[in-house]
Amino acid sequence: MATPKKKTSKSRRNMRRSHHALGGNSYHECPNCGELKAPHNVCAACGHYDGKEVVAKKTTEE
Ligand SMILES: [Zn+2]
Repeated sequence: MATPKKKTSKSRRNMRRSHHALGGNSYHECPNCGELKAPHNVCAACGHYDGKEVVAKKTTEE
């Protein structure tokens, strides 16, 4: 198996890892109700996706 000729220094290793941080979760406003929701997911507040109600809303307004 290929083996590195030189030991990677702590500095080099840490420089490489400087790009490894996780980004924050992204949220977008629901076009229907304006609630913040995860992109590409059904809105938890109103049950809409792509302009249609795809999940019947549970509590209140029957
Ligand atoms: Zn919504």
